[in-house]
Amino acid sequence: MPDIPELVAQARDGNARAVARLISLVEDTSPRLREVAAALAPHTGHAAVLGLTGPPGVGKSTSTAALIAAFREQGKRIGVLAIDPSSPFSGGALLGDRIRMQDHATDPDVFIRSMATRGRLGGLAAATPQALRVLDAAGFDVVLVETVGVGQSEVDIVALADTTLVLLAPGMGDGIQAAKAGILEVADVFVVNKADRDGAARTVRDLKHMISLGRREIRGPTWRPPIVSTVATTGQGVAEVVAAVAEHRTWLTEHGDLARRREHRARTEIEEIAVQTLRTRLAGPRDGALDRLAQRVVTGELDPFAAADKLIADLP
Ligand code: GDP
Repeated sequence: MPDIPELVAQARDGNARAVARLISLVEDTSPRLREVAAALAPHTGHAAVLGLTGPPGVGKSTSTAALIAAFREQGKRIGVLAIDPSSPFSGGALLGDRIRMQDHATDPDVFIRSMATRGRLGGLAAATPQALRVLDAAGFDVVLVETVGVGQSEVDIVALADTTLVLLAPGMGDGIQAAKAGILEVADVFVVNKADRDGAARTVRDLKHMISLGRREIRGPTWRPPIVSTVATTGQGVAEVVAAVAEHRTWLTEHGDLARRREHRARTEIEEIAVQTLRTRLAGPRDGALDRLAQRVVTGELDPFAAADKLIADLP
């Protein structure tokens, strides 16, 4: 069994294998998860967390590779979590491969990891924040969380971020779908990729229109998500994306929203863990307390609400 504080120290020294092992430990919800979390905590809170999402084929992997290059040019260390909710596999390959790893494979200041659900409901939602903590504690300046698709689970995942990038591309009817999935509300920066393709200007127009429709009257200062056009394959516009991210971060800091976002993130995390812990305890053996209550509900001796109250009240 690995020595956790030693692993954390190695990870902080830039040892990629130690980083990978720590992520495996938190991903598998191993019995040592709590020990890992405790060892990481004092070192967290420094990384800028970026979320990146959009429909399949829009250019997320290509954009991630381009963003890695742009951040590396600024001398920043960057960790990437490529999340694939539909894939049963996890570990190194898959989405990570598609981030054109060959460009960054030998760079010790770039760490790329794919994660998948493994068919566990809520598994990814639980594991992602912990993996993010590993990269944060390991001293990466930027942690980029990339997800496929625009469903609710992807929205939840990108909601972890300080800044969320939403990628669209011309000619995919993505705008409407994205709007349906509530992705418009979570976007801090819109990226219209494949600007070299016909219809890119139109996608930008449609997006502007949709943003103006969706904008509610909010009192006080609000961040207006900029729209940046890119050609991820050539890197065109990527510097503008990085600039927009920096601007958003400054805005968040100046308005106290960075702290608010992070508190919100921590609250959600604590709540998820508490609910999960409670569920495990409620379903635990406890001398068949749940079974006995179930029998009493079946016979009509107790109603299910009274039974649930009793189950909670009798928790050890
Ligand atoms: P993802 O599924 O969102 O990760 O999309 P990928 O990054 O895998 O890109 C899908 C395809 O679009 C690939 O063949 C890319 O080479 C191509 N692609 C990505 N960005 C651009 C772009 O800006 N312009 C053009 N013409 N093609 C692009």
